[in-house]
Amino acid sequence: MRQVVVIGGGIAGLSAAYYLQKETAAQGKPIAITLLEAGTRWGGKIATDRVDGFVIEGGPDTFLRTKPWAVQLCRELGLEERLHGTNPEQRNTYVLHRERLRPLPEGLTMMVPSQFGPMIRTGLLSWPAKARMGLDFFLPTKSENGDETMGEFVSRRLGRAAYESLIEPLMSGIYAGDGDKLSLQATLPYLRDLELKYGGLVKGALAVRKERTQKAKANDNGSAPKPAPGSRSIFLTPLTGLAEIVEALLAELEAAGVDLRLNTRVTRLERSDSKPETWHLTFDSGEHLEADAIILATPTYVSGALIADFAPELAAELAAIEYVSTATVTLAYPESELPKPLDGYGYVIPRCEGRKALACTWTSTKFPHRAPEGHALIRVFVGRAGQEEQITWDDEALLAIAREELELTLGITAEPLLTRIFQWEKAMPQYNLGHPERLERIDAALAAFPGLGLAGNGYQGIGIPDCIHSGELAVEKLLKHEGHKVPQSA
Ligand SMILES: Cc1cc2nc3c(=O)[nH]c(=O)nc-3n(C[C@H](O)[C@H](O)[C@H](O)COP(=O)(O)OP(=O)(O)OC[C@H]3O[C@@H](n4cnc5c(N)ncnc54)[C@H](O)[C@@H]3O)c2cc1C
Repeated sequence: MRQVVVIGGGIAGLSAAYYLQKETAAQGKPIAITLLEAGTRWGGKIATDRVDGFVIEGGPDTFLRTKPWAVQLCRELGLEERLHGTNPEQRNTYVLHRERLRPLPEGLTMMVPSQFGPMIRTGLLSWPAKARMGLDFFLPTKSENGDETMGEFVSRRLGRAAYESLIEPLMSGIYAGDGDKLSLQATLPYLRDLELKYGGLVKGALAVRKERTQKAKANDNGSAPKPAPGSRSIFLTPLTGLAEIVEALLAELEAAGVDLRLNTRVTRLERSDSKPETWHLTFDSGEHLEADAIILATPTYVSGALIADFAPELAAELAAIEYVSTATVTLAYPESELPKPLDGYGYVIPRCEGRKALACTWTSTKFPHRAPEGHALIRVFVGRAGQEEQITWDDEALLAIAREELELTLGITAEPLLTRIFQWEKAMPQYNLGHPERLERIDAALAAFPGLGLAGNGYQGIGIPDCIHSGELAVEKLLKHEGHKVPQSA
């Protein structure tokens, strides 16, 4: 039987193993699959801790519904009924502005203002900054093609102040990145599409909002059942944490007889040019394994190092993708210890505020089932591109940063009931200017290795749905190579 090895047991590697198993079994051409993970547990950045009635997410806490691949996988795994949206009752989000929390103005469509009232009233922007935003209506569309940084683009259309106080903090929460380096095309390409299609960002957001309202009205002809609370949320997550997806995938893989190995770090990958190509893996234990095809679902700097001997150019492209380290610090309190109730999902912190924290999620308000009655669960995000050197990466120092943040902003001085700290070294890939072109070069170079697939968050998207899809696409490539049919959905 042919042998395929998937390296990396994060969501991308688990999904790749799952789709590989599913497709080959369905076509009656089963193959032997081995999934290797260097660490002591499965899931990679997905790390859910369930303790004393709290559900604590160390990494991602939710996924975007609008990218279909995570919902589709959950449906296949029988988890659809367990998916919950964010709390519809308390939807405020705040932005830290000159050390005070100010509500994010309502009416942002795709991060762009699409209602005038809230923009005029917001205390986040000065009058000159608001007037500069209005210029977006009159500015010509940039005709030259070619990428820009997110900072350049948004400042060009809406002004620097709107970029720094509104768009940058929202975007930072996703990439922990520096908007003055991130490629617009690789991160928020739809913003440029709005400019090209409608002649401006605000005009585009207004048009999209109108289209959405008309569509909702057309669908709501009275016969449709009322949606369940939270079902309109664009973010979803399983009831007891994202680890439910990891657990369900593992159950499927185990039942299908996939060889699952934890504590197995691949330290060397060799390829023999024989026909068909064969792969030789060496582990940190000194053991070896042979394979007919490989999927590398590891961070790009790991993948690059593993292939450097036989694919130096491809390896250099992979190694050039920068990663940023971050950490999350979760703290639980009795609600009675909080000076004020937490009336929203939390707040984001613009880079220009100069804080070490990036954002703060009020988990127990955003997802009420994640803390026992009468308790608050709060998560502080630490670390962003360009600030890593200012942070001491040990648990004590990270906890101190989080507690200082909560004291300064929310006035919380009480001892937390429990704390959990997760450090993520080199975790967030940065899709900097030039990333789309780099992906083209990677694809071109990869074509020389038909038995090698790449998956993970370093390529076409950092979120969980994108990582799942990257696993599906890597499987598609190998199925072609192995002479299987390629599924329609991939
Ligand atoms: C703090 C944080 C919050 C986030 N929040 C969200 C969110 O809310 N929503 C969202 O959609 N996304 C979020 N993300 C992004 C998302 O979680 C990640 O992009 C995604 O989980 C990455 O999955 P992956 O499989 O590509 O990589 P990983 O999860 O990094 O998995 C790679 C695996 O490869 C293993 N490995 C490495 N080297 C080797 C080797 N030599 N041999 C064998 N195994 C190896 C690693 O141990 C690891 O388990 C967040 C990320 C972080 C860090």
